[in-house]
Amino acid sequence: MPNAPAGGVDRVSLYQPQPNDDVQRVRDASDIVGVVGDCITLKPKGREYVCVCPFHDDHSPSMCVVPAKQIFHCFVCGAGGDAFTFVQRYHSMDFREALTYLAERGNIELTPFKPSRQNQSDSNNDQQYPTGSTKQDILAANEQAQAYFRALLTHPDHGSTARALIDRRGISDDIVERFGIGTSADRWDGLLMTIDGKGYNTQAFTDAGLLKTRDNGGQYDAMRNRLIFPICDQIGRVIGFGGRRINDDDDPKYLNSPETLVFNKSRTLYGLNHAQRAIKRERVAVIVEGYTDVIACHQHGVEHVVGTLGTALTKGHATILRRLCDTVVLLFDGDQAGQRAADRAIEVLFSETIDIKIAALSGHTEAKDPDELLSQPDGVEIFNKVIDNAVDLLKWRFDRLRAELAGAGAARVTQRIEEEIRTLLDLGIEKLSPMRRQLMIRQIAGAAGVSEQVVKASMRLGRRVPASIEPKDTMPQETNAPLTAREMLLGCLLSDPKLWLTMSSEEHDLMMTSAFRSASSAMVAQALHESVENGTGTGLHEVLRELSETMIHADEQSTADPVGRATLLCRTVEQQSEGSDERLARMMRECTRALVLNQERSEPTQSQHTESDELDQLRAFAAKQQDMRKKYGTMRGRLSGGDG
Ligand SMILES: [Zn+2]
Repeated sequence: MPNAPAGGVDRVSLYQPQPNDDVQRVRDASDIVGVVGDCITLKPKGREYVCVCPFHDDHSPSMCVVPAKQIFHCFVCGAGGDAFTFVQRYHSMDFREALTYLAERGNIELTPFKPSRQNQSDSNNDQQYPTGSTKQDILAANEQAQAYFRALLTHPDHGSTARALIDRRGISDDIVERFGIGTSADRWDGLLMTIDGKGYNTQAFTDAGLLKTRDNGGQYDAMRNRLIFPICDQIGRVIGFGGRRINDDDDPKYLNSPETLVFNKSRTLYGLNHAQRAIKRERVAVIVEGYTDVIACHQHGVEHVVGTLGTALTKGHATILRRLCDTVVLLFDGDQAGQRAADRAIEVLFSETIDIKIAALSGHTEAKDPDELLSQPDGVEIFNKVIDNAVDLLKWRFDRLRAELAGAGAARVTQRIEEEIRTLLDLGIEKLSPMRRQLMIRQIAGAAGVSEQVVKASMRLGRRVPASIEPKDTMPQETNAPLTAREMLLGCLLSDPKLWLTMSSEEHDLMMTSAFRSASSAMVAQALHESVENGTGTGLHEVLRELSETMIHADEQSTADPVGRATLLCRTVEQQSEGSDERLARMMRECTRALVLNQERSEPTQSQHTESDELDQLRAFAAKQQDMRKKYGTMRGRLSGGDG
């Protein structure tokens, strides 16, 4: 690098990042295939990838990821967008959170962001406690508490009993580090004093379940004298804590954080942030019972293992896992626990397309849990054998039934098997689509060792199965409606931003938001105008950025999805023009001509009702956009310039 003249103006202009460089740099570092692939298993298909769509109840790969355009799109529910949109929707983040997340992922250092005081208090105010704590406040409190628990573990006095317990359990330093294990002091005010000392917001810690309130109003630590296991979400944010007692006289043995805005036990799998890569690789997720079992497995290199937090396998768990793998193995220490878990897992089996298998240690080893097994010299080998020998859930139930009935007469066996079939049917077969129901009947017949006819006969004896099943997926209607010429024109402009420059101002008016029938398309058009005004052009990514930055929340109630719509429009015209610029330009001219002609003949008006509904939605959107612009104005230099 040549020496720059001291204090030279050139040097400053050369090396100073552009005011709104952050988003672009993060986008460049966030390949859509990697970002989606972190969360869902992708299968290559030509130049694209396909996967199960996480945004609707998808049972076959309906979503495609297009590396060339850096977009994803689901042709069933219409979800679509770029890497930012995906992260926003998948992890329920706002644009700022998604930007930070992707920046960390791509090792990009962001320009420090300081929202004004007023904005700080109302950021993310769509979800909060009556006390005023938001999701962000709870996450921040958890992070601060985690720092305290970690620091305490290294303290010469306060950390010594916890360290001794860690040593006794044979947990390695590497694992203590990787899983962020800490400890809480043997007193009622250890965390409380730290919070007071640092001037943190006490209310957020109370709402996070870390502090409890006495009848007289005073407060005390919820976790006292415990080994602390932080519970993280899929992307590693601390959402809660598990505490194991250090002193055997303390009760209970394990104490979990209560459910909060960020912590939902039935949707959380302990260790998933560390296990997801291995789960995707193995196509199998092993579920064990406790923190220490998960940790023992990871310490011994068996990494496709997660834990439930004192609950049975739920539909929420299965939904997360089926995006990563095909098979879930429930591993239990003894037959008793296995039986109970298998009973509950049946309902999950009926609601999610994922194979569920049961494995029990008993019968393979004397060890009472995975932790004990893996500390033996041949532990890993035996552990893997147990997993390989896992039995399909339905077969497992019938095997057990037969074992129970050993010695009973043939008639009794038949009767009990029929009863069992009816129990299974009652558990959920009515909720299945006809195709899945047929598949399930075949599976039950196979597991029970009877013909499909016998299962169907039991079905008739039992409750009646309705002839038509209400489809679970309720799609926004506009997704399936054919695109209008105006929408195709919009798609052309998104696909090739140069086309806008070839249009006359009369032709530009064709993109007036009020001319669109679909609220989503109108929002796309509005964002396109904003992009033009900002001088960033009409390209898909510029328009997506315009939309994402102003979108309040990924999961908002509105049925309109302008981000998905923009992606759909762009993708549709690109598929139809087969990547040829010439064809795209021709399509754009044809749409323009058709619209101009139609306008001269005056367009037929829509029913008054629909129009005003959509106008209302659009107005609400515009107001929201203005709001967000105020909030995030500092992110983009241009917004402080008063060009209105
Ligand atoms: Zn979808």
